[in-house]
Amino acid sequence: MVNVFAEGFEQDDKQIARSHKASMGERKYLSDEVPDYASLVNASLRIPGPIKNNEYLSEIFEKGFKDFVSDFDIKKRIIWDIATGPEAFAIVNSDAQIVKTAAVKYENDSPLGSIFDIDVYIVHGDTLGALKREDLKLKPRKCLICDNSASECIRDHNHTVKELQAHISNLINNN
Ligand SMILES: [Zn+2]
Repeated sequence: MVNVFAEGFEQDDKQIARSHKASMGERKYLSDEVPDYASLVNASLRIPGPIKNNEYLSEIFEKGFKDFVSDFDIKKRIIWDIATGPEAFAIVNSDAQIVKTAAVKYENDSPLGSIFDIDVYIVHGDTLGALKREDLKLKPRKCLICDNSASECIRDHNHTVKELQAHISNLINNN
């Protein structure tokens, strides 16, 4: 069994913030190319702690993303394999509600889905809006470890980074 977090470069808040900004810029750039009745997907991994990418994480991300989009007609796809965490963008020729429903199902049900974050955006002219679980009257995202909602456990610091990393490492080793 490998310790998934034994490798990788630690990222700080500044580097993570810079990537968030770049990601926002990429979504905005791609939004011009999204046809009517299509949607924009931005997928990443939900990895707590300073190590956000390495050969294991990059591999499972690419595999999982490919698996998720294989059900759809894809107009364009871009993958970033960067130190702040792998990220992917796809213009999908399907309505955002259909894509978000599939994304939630993937996150909830597939073996490694719990560490995926698949955001789906609706494009209206120049504006991009993320379709949320609440918009589809679905339950909020669950914590990686327990049955609370993820936002609750993050807010209350219910689990240590070490505990979360051990959980993710186990999950990856077993799947
Ligand atoms: Zn929890």
